[in-house]
Amino acid sequence: MKFFYIIAVSLLFYAGCSSKPDIYYETPRELVDEVSKIKFIQIYSPYLKNITFFIDPGHGGEDRKNKGSKGLAIEADVNLRVGLALRSFIELSGAKVIMSRDKDTTIALKDRSLLANNSGADIFISIHSNAPGQEGDNSTNFTSTYYHATESDYEYEPMERDLAKYIQRDLSYAMRNSGGPGSFDGTYSDYHIYPKQGFSVLRLTTIPSVLIEAGFHTSSWEEPRLASEDFNRVEAWGIFKGLCRYFKAGIPKITFTDQTTKGKKQLVTYSIFDSVSIDLKSIKVFVDSTETSEYTFNEKEKSITIELPKFINEEKSIRIIAANKNGNFSFPFTDIVTDKLPR
Ligand SMILES: [Zn+2]
Repeated sequence: MKFFYIIAVSLLFYAGCSSKPDIYYETPRELVDEVSKIKFIQIYSPYLKNITFFIDPGHGGEDRKNKGSKGLAIEADVNLRVGLALRSFIELSGAKVIMSRDKDTTIALKDRSLLANNSGADIFISIHSNAPGQEGDNSTNFTSTYYHATESDYEYEPMERDLAKYIQRDLSYAMRNSGGPGSFDGTYSDYHIYPKQGFSVLRLTTIPSVLIEAGFHTSSWEEPRLASEDFNRVEAWGIFKGLCRYFKAGIPKITFTDQTTKGKKQLVTYSIFDSVSIDLKSIKVFVDSTETSEYTFNEKEKSITIELPKFINEEKSIRIIAANKNGNFSFPFTDIVTDKLPR
């Protein structure tokens, strides 16, 4: 009897020392069971279902060199697992997903942007894990989300920062990671890494885009977590939750409504609508890349009328930016105006 007891205890001990390393994470309460998950997705489905997402799991194919020192987490594979899990959550909401890759294939950086630009998708999300600048550093670990350019640049789109903030908040919470030392909330301009250029994948992608560096595969704490498919699902859920909350907060919709002639001037009107109303102070209007104050906002009509000086046989490019009272900015809006009427 005693002999069997010793064998049983040894077996238990052996099972406890299996080759799987101990990893720590908390499963989000919505992922504990299928009913809670579906319930959550149903609540947010009305805000997501008309959106098309382009998911870009970084690296893959011939590009598989980024990995942790234990060889457990290969970045290309981690990104793909997170991307596929994110796709499954998004698709359950009724929204559409297009992927740059859904298997271990080689795709050049510029092709990822090209695919996204021609896909008809609304937003682009590139998924990566991180590595520190210093070789041999196995302790640095944080979660960060990048948007392109900085506020003083014409190509900066404030909505990309909104999107980054929402993703970052829920992803870093799901992973229980901080946002790193270089930013208050863990969102960063890509100029932080490549000054005045940013990441090529964000610079070349013309649809709104963000890039996630979920955690450091080089961190001895993070590597085994990133290597776990269950944990990758938790990461994907964090990103998904951020997307849900972002779209629920609303996005101002700008559309052309009218153009008329007043004396020698052209009056162009656009409606700016949001269910939670527009923050008047947020409105910015550019004519040919130069900011102008020659416009009026009609509170009742929720419209903006821009006064353009006389121009003949010319094109004027109009750009409008506006945020709603939840602080969410409009998607990129530009329009080309000529003096040929009616439009
Ligand atoms: Zn990467």
